[in-house]
Amino acid sequence: MPERTESDSRKLLRRLRDSLAVPGKGQDRLDRITSLIADSMRTEVCSIYLFRDPETLELCATEGLNKSAVHQTRMKLGEGLVGRVARLGQPVNTANAPAEKGFRFMPETGEEIYSSFLGVPIQRVGEKLGVLVVQSKAARAYSEDEIDALDVVAMVLAEMAELGAFAGEGDAMGAKHKQPVLIRGGTGQEGAAEGRVWLHEPRVVVTNPVADDPLTEIDRIREAVGVLRVSVDDLLAAESLDKDQKAVLEAYRMFAHSRGWLRRMEEDIQRGLSAEAAVEKEQSAARNRLEQVPDAYLRDRLHDLDDLSNRLLRILTGQGSDTGAEMPENPVLVARNIGPAELLEYGRKLRGVVLEEGSVGSHAAIVARALAIPLVINADRITTEALNGDPILVDGDQGLVHLRPDETVARSFRDKIAMQAEAQKRYASLRDLPATTRDGQTVALLMNAGLMADLPSLEGSGAEGVGLFRTELQFLIRNRMPQRAELAQTYARVMDAARGRPVAFRTLDIGSDKVLPYMKPQDEPNPAMGWRAIRVGLDKPGVLRMQLQALLRAANGRPLSIMFPFISEHGEFMMARSHTLREIHRERSLGHTVPASIEIGAMLETPSLAYAPQAFFDLADFVSIGGNDLKQFFFAADRENERVRKRYDTLNLSFLSFLELVVQRCAASGTRLSFCGEDAGRPIEALALAAIGLRVLSMRPASVGPVKSLLRRVDLAQARAVIETARTAGAESARPALMEWLATQQD
Ligand code: PEP
Ligand code: MG
Repeated sequence: MPERTESDSRKLLRRLRDSLAVPGKGQDRLDRITSLIADSMRTEVCSIYLFRDPETLELCATEGLNKSAVHQTRMKLGEGLVGRVARLGQPVNTANAPAEKGFRFMPETGEEIYSSFLGVPIQRVGEKLGVLVVQSKAARAYSEDEIDALDVVAMVLAEMAELGAFAGEGDAMGAKHKQPVLIRGGTGQEGAAEGRVWLHEPRVVVTNPVADDPLTEIDRIREAVGVLRVSVDDLLAAESLDKDQKAVLEAYRMFAHSRGWLRRMEEDIQRGLSAEAAVEKEQSAARNRLEQVPDAYLRDRLHDLDDLSNRLLRILTGQGSDTGAEMPENPVLVARNIGPAELLEYGRKLRGVVLEEGSVGSHAAIVARALAIPLVINADRITTEALNGDPILVDGDQGLVHLRPDETVARSFRDKIAMQAEAQKRYASLRDLPATTRDGQTVALLMNAGLMADLPSLEGSGAEGVGLFRTELQFLIRNRMPQRAELAQTYARVMDAARGRPVAFRTLDIGSDKVLPYMKPQDEPNPAMGWRAIRVGLDKPGVLRMQLQALLRAANGRPLSIMFPFISEHGEFMMARSHTLREIHRERSLGHTVPASIEIGAMLETPSLAYAPQAFFDLADFVSIGGNDLKQFFFAADRENERVRKRYDTLNLSFLSFLELVVQRCAASGTRLSFCGEDAGRPIEALALAAIGLRVLSMRPASVGPVKSLLRRVDLAQARAVIETARTAGAESARPALMEWLATQQD
């Protein structure tokens, strides 16, 4: 068997490209291509299998096997040698296929007479499209050169498929990125939206996978890699880098200077690929490895390589991240991940956000919540599947994404959106009415906030004030520590926007899930119970004092309300309070105006504080129950852990009894009490909280309407009696009884 040369390979790619230029049906092209490949590779068989759905491959063209098997022979991912290639995303090469483990005999193809088998995946930047196979009668293993050559051919086929070259009848031949796809992810922010895909980082489109002149292409890739290296070095030289950014860029630099990377791309160019296609081929291989690596650190590094490949492609094609595409109306942002500052920049013009990664507590999720934009996280493969402008439905309630939905799905989805809009209208009509129950109890409904973007909701939602202003968000969206003057200005704007309504500023609550990018991360075995919130504030009071000063200056003579997070014992509250008094004294001695009045409160987020000495309740101006944390510590169930997060019901009677104890202790000392965890914004939960005696609830702005609407419909004394009866009956949770009772109440 004569050696296969690079020029053989180039000749084949050119012939493939030319076959594309001839107008014709997808099937004719595939047939021609299999015969070209068999001829060039000097094998008796060449077959192309394509995915008809994510689990099933279909024989779509063959030279050498029985033609009658085309579109008939199918196999599952992982089944037989072809299925194995697809699953692994790597070549399988054997001289004796029938003896190979997993070999599946397919009589209809006449395959048994072929001994040698070489299959390579047809894939494109993480998207598996099919398998390309050559087979011969002679029992021989294919050489490394032949494997590489076939790999390059498969790459070109993948690019051709992407360009729609093989589009034809049936699922396997259907054009890519045209079919409807349903992706199941997780809920980041509730709500439903219909819109069109807007890719945060659009894919670079490679239109020329095959190049005639390898020397020119090699010059191009060397030059582009040179530019890339300089740009990474420049980024590294920037002064304002924190440790993590530096670590990522160091990894970029390592890859950018990797000889192996450039060498592999040059070899592929020698075989006939264009510089762009060579970069994509490497990128595909990296993505493929990414899927197989369980180690989080290695996965991050492979992500880095992926990013770097994108940069290189942009240099080569001159396509910036701004492709000139116009943002569609009703854009739904689709991204692997996005930083809080970038998301804020898009702001409210987005209808929805879908992220391939992300978590409930991520900063992007916090921002999406503030902007009240439906968010789906962990939407597997969305960035590979979605194209700019694709129709998309985002179901934030269920964590579902319908990409390119068919009309029946879209129609029923629109009904859901219309129903939500209808409800919003109803809530808007209640905006200026109090949340007064049928038996005349009034519950104050406030909103939680943390970003400037939240403030317009104060007017729109009908909230009576801000019951929790999470000051850490202003720290989280920056990449450096904000300064006192900046913070003072922000807080002043918040108070201006509140126009005399109360705002409870919670001092910095960092640690646990909220890690500042510019602060040294603490390596703690259990950060939720670690050095966080007020514990940090008291141990390193510099930032706390700066923040207190900023608040005092922002108030500029107006009343001020400050609360300290995560107070676990009386002593902590006393210390935090005396820091505040000291700062007031200092401000006064500097001649600054101090607030007209000041309230200092504590967040009750650990069960211990409910049992604090009487002196604590006497000293605190108010107590706010941080139900998110309190619940996780009451039940010892991590609020960030999907497995246990919803395991225990907030309406569990043990928990309600515990909350009642807090209500009683505050009532006994005349200490104002509010509840500001997420549960305050869930109507049934809010009803139960009001029934056990809470009269101030602080929630997401979007929840004010639904909660008010329910409270205005019910008799609180009756709700309380329902809870009591459930307790006496030994129920675990008051929910079933409350639901049953609610069903009997008329609108
Ligand atoms: C809480 O724990 O309930 C709370 C309001 O604080 P955060 O959710 O910011 O921890
Ligand atoms: Mg908390």
